[in-house]
Amino acid sequence: MTMKSPLEAPERQVAEETSAKPAKTTASVIDTSKMSEGKRAALELAEASRDPLDDRGSFASNLFVGRYDFDRIYPFAEQSAEDRAAGEEFLARLKKYLHDNVDADEIDRTGEIPQKNIDELFEMGAFGVKIPKEYGGLGLSQVNYGRAAMLLGSWDANLTALVSAHQSIGVPQPLLLFGTEEQKRKYLPRVARKEISAFALTEWNAGSDPANMSLRADPTEDGSAFVLNGEKLWCTNLIKAGVLVVMAKTPPKMVNGRERKQITAFIVDVDSPGLEITYRCRFMGLRALYNGIVKFTNVRVPRENMISKEGAGLKVALTTLNTGRLTIPAACVGLSKRLVEICRKWAKERVQWGVPIGQHYAIAGKIAEMAGNVFAMEAITFLTSALVDRKAGDLRIETAMCKMWATEMTWRIADEAMQVRGGRGYETADSLGGRGEEPIAVERFLRDCRINMIFEGSSEIMRLFIAREALDPHLKVGGAIFNTQLPMSERIKAMLSSGKFYASWYPKQLFGGGAGTIKGLHSDLRGHVDYAARTSHRLARGLFHAMARFGPKLDREQLLLSRFCGIATELFAISATCSFAQAKINQGEPADEVLSLTNYFCRSAKMRIDQHFSGTSTNVDRSGYDLTQELLAGKHASLQSGIV
Ligand SMILES: Cc1cc2nc3c(=O)[nH]c(=O)nc-3n(C[C@H](O)[C@H](O)[C@H](O)COP(=O)(O)OP(=O)(O)OC[C@H]3O[C@@H](n4cnc5c(N)ncnc54)[C@H](O)[C@@H]3O)c2cc1C
Repeated sequence: MTMKSPLEAPERQVAEETSAKPAKTTASVIDTSKMSEGKRAALELAEASRDPLDDRGSFASNLFVGRYDFDRIYPFAEQSAEDRAAGEEFLARLKKYLHDNVDADEIDRTGEIPQKNIDELFEMGAFGVKIPKEYGGLGLSQVNYGRAAMLLGSWDANLTALVSAHQSIGVPQPLLLFGTEEQKRKYLPRVARKEISAFALTEWNAGSDPANMSLRADPTEDGSAFVLNGEKLWCTNLIKAGVLVVMAKTPPKMVNGRERKQITAFIVDVDSPGLEITYRCRFMGLRALYNGIVKFTNVRVPRENMISKEGAGLKVALTTLNTGRLTIPAACVGLSKRLVEICRKWAKERVQWGVPIGQHYAIAGKIAEMAGNVFAMEAITFLTSALVDRKAGDLRIETAMCKMWATEMTWRIADEAMQVRGGRGYETADSLGGRGEEPIAVERFLRDCRINMIFEGSSEIMRLFIAREALDPHLKVGGAIFNTQLPMSERIKAMLSSGKFYASWYPKQLFGGGAGTIKGLHSDLRGHVDYAARTSHRLARGLFHAMARFGPKLDREQLLLSRFCGIATELFAISATCSFAQAKINQGEPADEVLSLTNYFCRSAKMRIDQHFSGTSTNVDRSGYDLTQELLAGKHASLQSGIV
C-alpha cells in the first residue's frame, strides 16, 4: 500500500483519488422519509447536532474505508517528562490519600461518602484536575486526569463517579469547551474548589433518545431569561451538587418547512427558587451514588447562563462526551488491574486437586485473557488521551471505542474474577473479614462496574454512533443515490460520481497489503500490524458489500453493523497495543514479558475478529428479530407457564 500523508482522510481521499467530489448537499445524507415519526425526530435531531467528522479523519475512522495510517499512532504518543512531572505530586498524594483515608467497603455498606473525604479531595484539587490554574484548578492534562481516574477506579467506584460526573460531564467540561469568559470566571473557581456539579439530560421518556425530552425552557417576554418547567431523572451528584448543567427544550425552529426540536444547555444554580430535589435513587452497585430526581417549577434562569447558543444543547452534550467519555475507560483500567492482581495472587495460593488453581487450564485461560485485555485497555485509553492532549484531530470514534470496549471487557474481567475466586468471589468483603479471611470485594467490584455499559452512552448507542461515522464516507459518496428526498437529477449525478469513486477505491481494498514501511518495530509486532492493515481492507470491502446489499436500509441492520464496529475496535486495539508494546520495550521493560502479553492479546483479538466476520455471512439475526416480534405480540404463551 502506498502510504501518503498521515493526515489524509476519507473525504480528501474521495477527491484526490478520483475526479469525483463527495456530494455537497445541505440535506442530510440519510433519507428519513420512510421512517416512523419517532425515529425520524431522533435521527434528525442527532444529525443536526452532529459536527461533520474532521476533514482529516482519524486512525480508527479510517479503518472503515480501508486506510491504515499506522504512523498516526506510532511511535506511541508517550507522556512527556514535563507533563508527567506536572502531575506527579498530585497523583502521589491522591494515591496515598485513597489508600490511607478512603474505606470503599464502608462507603458501600453505608451508602454515603464521608463529607471529610469530599472536602479533603476538593482541597487536593481532585475536583478540578483539568481546570486551568487561572480558574483555580490544577491545570493538568488529559493523560494526568486519566491517571487520576485509574487510581480512583482501582480503589472506589463511588468516589470515581462523584469526581468524574462532576468534571467529565458536569459544569467544568462543557464550560471549558463552550463557556464564555464571564461564565468561566463565575463558575470554574466554584466547581474547582468547593461546589459539586452534575449533568441533567435524562428524563422518564428520554434516555437514549433526547428528542423525547419534555423539560421546557420558555423565554421570558423581554428575552432576558428562560423559565424552566419539568423533571430530570437519575442525575448523578445531584444530592450534593451546587450547580447543574441542564438540557431543556426551547421553542422549535422551522427547518425546510418542518418544525425541528431545539435543545439548549443551561447552567442552573441548585438554590434557584422553584428547584426541588424530590428523590434519591438507589442502585445495584454504586451504593453511595448521590443520584436523584430534580423538579423544576417556574425556575428562572438568566440568558447569560445559556451554554453556547439556543438550540446547541445536544451538540454541547455530544461534544462534551466526546472527551468526557475517556474517564470511564481510564477508571476501568484501574479496576481491571486490581482484579488481575487479586486473581494472580489467588490462583497461586489456592490449591485444589493437588495444584494451585492457576495451573488448571480452565483458570489459566481466564487469567491470561484478563491480563491481555487490561494491557490493551491501557494502550487504547492512554493513546487516545495523549492524542487528545496533542489535539491530534477528531477522536470521537476512538473515545467511543475506548468507552465501549473497556466497559465490556471490564465487566467480563469482573465476572471471570468472581469465577476464579469461586465462593469467595460471591461472598461480601465484610463476611469474609468476619470469619477471618482477607476481605476482598470482588462482588462489590462486579456490582459497581455493571452500570458503565449503560450510562454516558450505552454500548448499543456507542455502536450506533460508531456505525454512523463509519458509514459517513460511503453515505457522502453514494447515499444520495437512495435518498428519495433529493431530486432525481441529483441522485443520477451521485450514481455516476460514486461509480467512478468505487471503480478506483474497490481494487485497492481487494489487493491492499500490509502496513508499508515501519521503522523500529519488533518483528512479532510487525506481524500483528500487517494483519491489522490487511484486515482493514477486508473490513472496508465487507462494509461496502453490506451497503450495496441493503442500501438505505443498512441502518436497520444493527447486529450486522455491530460486527463491523467490533472488527474495527479490535483492529484499533491490536494496533494501539503493538505501538504501546514497542514503547515499553524501548523504555527498557523486559521484551519477552511485553511480547508474551501482546502476542496473547493479538491472537485472542484475531479470534474475536474471525467470529465477527463469520457472523456477517452466517447468523440468526433475521430469525431472532422475527422471534422477538412474536414474543412482543404475545405469542409463545408457554414461556410464561409454570412460574409464580
Ligand atoms: C446509575 C445511573 C447514573 C446516571 N447518571 C446520569 C446523569 O448523571 N445524567 C443523566 O442525564 N443521565 C444519567 N443516567 C441516565 C443514563 O445515561 C441512561 O440510563 C442511559 O442513557 C440509557 O437510557 P435509559 O436507561 O432510559 O435506557 P433506554 O434508552 O430506555 O434503553 C433501554 C435499552 O435499549 C437500548 N436502546 C435504546 N435505543 C436504542 C436504539 N436506537 N438502538 C438500539 N438499542 C437501543 C439501550 O442501549 C438499552 O440497552 C444515569 C443512569 C443510571 C442508572
